[in-house]
Amino acid sequence: MARYNGPVCKLCRREGLKLFLKGQRCLIDKCVFNNRKNPPGPMPKRKPKMTGYGAQLREKQKVKRIYGVLEKPFRNYFKKALRMKGITGENLLQLLERRLDNTIYRMGIASSRAQARTLVSHGHIKVNGRKVNISSFQVSVNDEISLSEKVLNLELINSNIELAQGVGLIAPWIELATDGKSGKIKELPKRENVDIPIKEQVIVELYSK
Ligand code: SF4
Repeated sequence: MARYNGPVCKLCRREGLKLFLKGQRCLIDKCVFNNRKNPPGPMPKRKPKMTGYGAQLREKQKVKRIYGVLEKPFRNYFKKALRMKGITGENLLQLLERRLDNTIYRMGIASSRAQARTLVSHGHIKVNGRKVNISSFQVSVNDEISLSEKVLNLELINSNIELAQGVGLIAPWIELATDGKSGKIKELPKRENVDIPIKEQVIVELYSK
């Protein structure tokens, strides 16, 4: 499964926004974006003017980077969103939110989507009692998500849960167990549950050309 392995803080500087790609580090003073907000690469003499196409492209890149999805699967999500009932942009965000790696991140078990993806691909996540190691797996209403015995008491997971619950990062569409280590999908994620500044309509316009 292909994934981006390059430096991630550069991506935040490129998009001019904190994308929260490095887990707990993003929440503390060590976040690079706090001190260096300029895009990577040599400083241009004049700030380049953003065209309409440029703005659409940046928006798409931003969303792909947040969810850790490469171009081909992202385009497939768009095609699927087009076929669904309702607003295409909102459908697209819902499909991305329903990914298993994102769900683990939204439960607070992992401190970033990349960490969640590692947990999934190493077989530490169960859906309805069965091991699922595909990070793009789409969760559905009433699915029960739990951890394998191996990682249940891992210090890293305990601290992730503590931090996520402390800063209120848990998605409202997931009903967590008291210990925070398992949960049930109460409902499908809605547009208002996506707390990232995304202009999904701009992405729809880009792909509809
Ligand atoms: Fe972005 Fe800051 Fe996290 Fe780096 S530490 S990925 S710059 S939010």
